Amino acid sequence: MDHFLYRDGKLHAEDVPLTEIAADVGTPFYCYSTATLTRHFQLFQDALAGMDHLVCFAVKSLSNQAVLRVLSDLGAGMDVVSEGEYRRAQAAGVPGERIVFSGVGKTREEMAYALIHGIRQFNVESAEELRVLSDVAAGLGKTAPITLRVNPDVDAKTHEKIATGRKEDKFGVPISAARAIYAEAATLPGIEVVGVDVHIGSQLTDLAPFEAAFTKIADLTRDLRAEGHVIRRLDLGGGLGIPYTRSNETPPLPMDYGAMIKRVLGDLDVEIEIEPGRLISGNAGILVASVIYLKQGEGRDFLILDAAMNDLIRPAMYGAHHDIIPVIEAQAASLQRPVDIVGPVCESGDTFAKQRAMPALCAGDLVAFRSAGAYGAVMSSEYNTRPLIPEVLVQGDQYAVIRARPSFDEMINRDKLPAWL
Ligand SMILES: *Cc1c(COP(=O)(O)O)cnc(C)c1O
Repeated sequence: MDHFLYRDGKLHAEDVPLTEIAADVGTPFYCYSTATLTRHFQLFQDALAGMDHLVCFAVKSLSNQAVLRVLSDLGAGMDVVSEGEYRRAQAAGVPGERIVFSGVGKTREEMAYALIHGIRQFNVESAEELRVLSDVAAGLGKTAPITLRVNPDVDAKTHEKIATGRKEDKFGVPISAARAIYAEAATLPGIEVVGVDVHIGSQLTDLAPFEAAFTKIADLTRDLRAEGHVIRRLDLGGGLGIPYTRSNETPPLPMDYGAMIKRVLGDLDVEIEIEPGRLISGNAGILVASVIYLKQGEGRDFLILDAAMNDLIRPAMYGAHHDIIPVIEAQAASLQRPVDIVGPVCESGDTFAKQRAMPALCAGDLVAFRSAGAYGAVMSSEYNTRPLIPEVLVQGDQYAVIRARPSFDEMINRDKLPAWL
């Protein structure tokens, strides 16, 4: 459920007509709903109620500071994967004890920054990283709280590019190697073991792979405790999928996910952390664009938008589907015709949808891409020297630009000519 609905024939974000924002900030732009962000965060809070837990929002899915502030004010922790994300969370006012640091390639500088400014835990992904982290922490006179990310070798049955829990994936350590690495961790001066971490992939539409992974984590937890390690926290990662079409997709509900967690891990007396990104931010955002041309080709028509693959790369990168709907509601009886919906970038990959049934639209009309909040703005680039598009946050009948469109001068003046030219 989200808060982008037609009212009086116009698509609104909560109580604000999108035509109003478009007239004010220009297209294309991203628009996020505070009510939807709040609702989705609360679903996880409710799903884990009764268990000691912390919901850590995956910052990489949507990292605007204003969004982080909304979630942090609700009590969210943050899962970050770089010093930049750590600093964004910090700028949004999130205390270090609510920040977990994930990622396979943390540098010494990143480790030191987080240790100095406060960190809940590092999710360590290799023995090599563990040794470096111990060294950095000891050098600062600190100990680093860690979980080890284990790779349970389960197939999340999701898109190739976002499956992370199979043995051929680069993430975590094989679960069979975990006990030896925990034994080493216990000997390292700069390390304090606090738990176990797992994350098997993104956009999972079935609970079975999660349950298979969590069952292995439960067994590992018992083994590690028997060997004298303190395992007081399990970080279960993110990955719960969302419906991208409003027709037949029904991914599991957070409530069922929470019930499964309680069933599989409830008797271990551990604190549970989860790291949802997409389920909180995905359907809380849309991308609004204008039609530039309706181009009639041979046997196929193209709807050419002012948004392109550099603004929303998911269709080009993952073959992802986004519902694309007119901002001015089509008459119920209006004829739908198949069109290819494309952007202006000079690549055939700059195609959002092929032969999509759309109502009649003409130049200047507005369309909205649904479910664009997660992995949308954060993956955008300035390819073709197209300025990054603005982000707007709505709350009730108010809206604010939370990232402005840069001017062409700002963009171009980042280039510097060397002295010899
Ligand atoms: C990407 C990622 C997440 C968030 O995944 P979603 O599918 O957006 O919920 C959580 N944890 C880690 C370690 C990740 O890499």
